[in-house]
Amino acid sequence: RSSEDDDGLPHATKKKMADHLRKYEALFTLTPQRMRIVVEAFKESLELGLAKHGQVVPMIPTYVFGWPTGQETGSYLAVDLGGTNLRVCLVTLQGDGKFEITQSKYRLTEEQKQEDGQILFDFCAECLKAFIDSNIESGVIEKDQVLPLGFTFSYPCAQERIDHGVLIRWTKGFGSPNTEGHDVVAMFRKSLAKHSVPAEVVALTCDTTGTLIASHYVNPKTRIACIFGTGCNAAYMERAGDIPKIQELGIDPNAEIAINCEWGAFDSFEHENLPRTKYDIIIDETSNKPGEQAFEKLISGRYLGEILRLIICELIDEGVLFLGQNTYKVEIAYSFDTAFLSLMESDPTDELLMIIGIFSHFFALETTLAERQFFRALAKLVARRAARLSACGIAAIVSKMNYLEDGCAVGADGSLYNKYPGFAERIHEGLQDIFGEKGKTIVTYHAEDGSGIGSAIVAAMTKARRDAGLY
Ligand code: BGC
Ligand code: MG
Repeated sequence: RSSEDDDGLPHATKKKMADHLRKYEALFTLTPQRMRIVVEAFKESLELGLAKHGQVVPMIPTYVFGWPTGQETGSYLAVDLGGTNLRVCLVTLQGDGKFEITQSKYRLTEEQKQEDGQILFDFCAECLKAFIDSNIESGVIEKDQVLPLGFTFSYPCAQERIDHGVLIRWTKGFGSPNTEGHDVVAMFRKSLAKHSVPAEVVALTCDTTGTLIASHYVNPKTRIACIFGTGCNAAYMERAGDIPKIQELGIDPNAEIAINCEWGAFDSFEHENLPRTKYDIIIDETSNKPGEQAFEKLISGRYLGEILRLIICELIDEGVLFLGQNTYKVEIAYSFDTAFLSLMESDPTDELLMIIGIFSHFFALETTLAERQFFRALAKLVARRAARLSACGIAAIVSKMNYLEDGCAVGADGSLYNKYPGFAERIHEGLQDIFGEKGKTIVTYHAEDGSGIGSAIVAAMTKARRDAGLY
């Protein structure tokens, strides 16, 4: 017997890699028992957020009252300032649960995410203006028409009304100065006025709230909405009477109001409940927001690639990987996109040719088959943990709201949910690990576009309330 296998890698190295994999398996695997403990702590955090202002999980009352009827009509603009793109949309609701949408997308640069907040909103206003102008030219929007606008701003904002929101903190790597602590609707209105954009902001929503409303519009069994994208979060509908912190507002206790949980903040600062590895801690401590968004940093698309990259870098340092090759490219922070994990897991070839391509094309590195299998196994560990933790969040809401008996539909959206192979299945598996057989009654499905359609429906609901003399 030679000391090498077909793939040219010495037995000893392979054995070492298998040992490493076992180590990572132990670090990244969540047992059902551990998950149930996380769910209990999560539930407590949700309750605390409803009880008092300023808690770790903000549990923001959104002033979106109840479900849409499906009869909402009219044309609305929607601006969606997401973690990766800015999108401007024109949505026409046809009143029978149907709609039409036209839109333009603009990629946000990393620089824009750090620019002064007012400049960022100016950019949104300019893009919207260009969009409206081109729609006037093609006759879709009438000249001199001022359209109502729904603003989807997916960062935690404390709201006093539906057209108001004070940014609590930037997330997803944004850091624009002079925005935290300010009303982002007022800032956006200022930019719209400056550029004479014919649009009236009627509602501020988060992508999750929009997703909740849009999903219910097409599937009335929907009770919860989640986003698993660049960031992660959930929204659901709560009885006003069960939100102790807004009792003084005198809202009918039986009225329903959508809660934007901002669950990405779960376990922030204290870090008592989540199983963080040293890689998670490095990501947290080197981020622009150390201590914050603890749950999100283990789950969302912005971070998963970075977790894997940090493991690779550790093994490079230990002399296990890429000996004799120039590894500087993979040593650049955030150079390993979460989309690579997704590709690695979906590679259908025996030789794992897609993984060869990723490493050679993007990082100028040669890999052996054993290494590629190892990377694929790592991707699976990291993504599976993310999905199982996501299941814990859903389970916390389900358990708090007693949705298990009757079951419920969970509208889900975001790049991770939509594109990562097996993400939804792993969430469902996790729900069954938590709840047993009964977990099967909780079903996630690909949601309707919350940030465009949802935002427009919320704007329509708000207009209808205003016309009826309600606020
Ligand atoms: C934000 C949420 C948002 C989520 C998904 C988080 O970082 O705080 O508002 O819903 O990302 O986009
Ligand atoms: Mg989005």
